[in-house]
Amino acid sequence: MTTELTMDERKCPVFVDGKECDLPLTEVDREVEKIARYDLATYQCGLGHRSYFLHEPKALRRRDKETDG
Ligand SMILES: [Zn+2]
Repeated sequence: MTTELTMDERKCPVFVDGKECDLPLTEVDREVEKIARYDLATYQCGLGHRSYFLHEPKALRRRDKETDG
């Protein structure tokens, strides 16, 4: 079974019976208000699990991540 996923694809991190739900998440809401300078986005999977992700504004990205590995 091969599934093409983009790097931006988010999987449901909710644990169900000891396993990650792992279903693709769909963005259902995006908070206009910023929390600690981050945008709060609400994602929901096919089973209705809700997850919240903070989106770091591009302008504030200053961390240097070493991805050479
Ligand atoms: Zn789920």
